Amino acid sequence: MNERRNLYFYTLKDNKTLAQADELSHLASQYGFNVVNNSNDANIIVSIGGDGAFLQAVRNTGFRQDCLYAGISTTGSLSMYCDFHIDDKEKMIKAMTEEQIEVRRYPTINVTVDDQSTFKCLNEFSIRSGIIKTFVLEVHIDDLHFETFRGDGMVISAPTGSTAYNKSVNGAVVDPMLPCLQVSELASLNNNRYRTLGSSFILSGERKLKLEVVQDGNDYPSMGMDNEALGIQHVKQVVIELSGEKIKTVKLKDNSFWEKVKRTFL
Ligand code: NAP
Ligand code: MN
Repeated sequence: MNERRNLYFYTLKDNKTLAQADELSHLASQYGFNVVNNSNDANIIVSIGGDGAFLQAVRNTGFRQDCLYAGISTTGSLSMYCDFHIDDKEKMIKAMTEEQIEVRRYPTINVTVDDQSTFKCLNEFSIRSGIIKTFVLEVHIDDLHFETFRGDGMVISAPTGSTAYNKSVNGAVVDPMLPCLQVSELASLNNNRYRTLGSSFILSGERKLKLEVVQDGNDYPSMGMDNEALGIQHVKQVVIELSGEKIKTVKLKDNSFWEKVKRTFL
């Protein structure tokens, strides 16, 4: 990490995590890093917490392209975005002193609501009916009208989000080396009048998914970008594409994506 020296800690504000961050700041200073108080001055951003904290760190610092992100887990184990454990200082020192580190890149998705607001997601964009009534989405892939969805909602995940919400609804786990989008259904209604594909599907990163919210009174869906809610009323359409931007993280030895999947789920 020779050329990257300015390090910012993104932490929860409870006393325990703050004390842990303080301890790590001292350690980082000992190894020649400048710990900065403003993330804009950083070229390494470290989250302390779990995967949820990592997602927040990336979002709150603006999906920086010129930064390396790293997650330090304070929970019992390592997780999908946390390659370091708070008690394993040796591993952190090793990464800090390594001459050449490998960088891995996680694809992100771009979401545009009603041609106006654009957001990025690292895990997924989710859209679901805000009321008990089902809602209807016209699903378009590029210029093709693909299906009319009626049900609770849909989850559109980036590869690293495939092990999160997407997996809970039986989506496939996707290797982040494949830049693509996965579309998974939430409780679709299927009968002689309404028909959807019924399985998750994976779109090439070149494609564009458009969801048109049918205006039948149910036009205030709950939308989520990773772990943050998006409060927009009267939504008409949402366009989801792979963004050209990737989140860079430190790639350690013996810690491939599939090793993480095995460690987390098997
Ligand atoms: P949360 O509701 O507190 O936690 C959801 C769980 O998902 C946590 O155990 C979290 O890990 C884990 N997680 C987050 N990203 C993951 C990933 N890429 N692969 C595997 N597990 C992951 O919310 P949160 O911690 O802020 O995480 C937000 C994510 O929760 C959303 O992006 C969505 O994917 C997921 N979620 C899942 C469901 C569901 O499965 N039914 C429903 C809503 C949201 P940590 O404990 O390490 O934070
Ligand atoms: Mn969490």
